[in-house]
Amino acid sequence: MNARKAKHLHRQRQEKAARVLAEARQAEPELLEAHDTFELWRRGRATFLLPVIADDLPDELKQALAAYRTAVLDGSCPLCPVSTEVSRKGLVTTRHDGQCPAHPDRLVELGERLGVEIQRRT
Ligand SMILES: [Zn+2]
Repeated sequence: MNARKAKHLHRQRQEKAARVLAEARQAEPELLEAHDTFELWRRGRATFLLPVIADDLPDELKQALAAYRTAVLDGSCPLCPVSTEVSRKGLVTTRHDGQCPAHPDRLVELGERLGVEIQRRT
């Protein structure tokens, strides 16, 4: 396969993944599995991994985690202008503003400050 064709295929896959995500955002979210620390949600043909917000967490952390969950599932963050990227394999990456409390790095810092262990999955 030549480079031009490879590039074309790459773009096609990316566009398809973006279409799947756009369709997913139109569908109602459906809880597939609930575990102690995470949940699997389906929306259209897309599946999302979300952290569970434990009742005993400090409010500040609950709010940041809630924003994180909303951003993953809806593609918009209540705290920053989030951006979403879809890889050609269909992996969705949600990028928060560097200073947003729902940014994975800030979540870990917040957890450390409040004495709660945050496990990063992304
Ligand atoms: Zn954010």
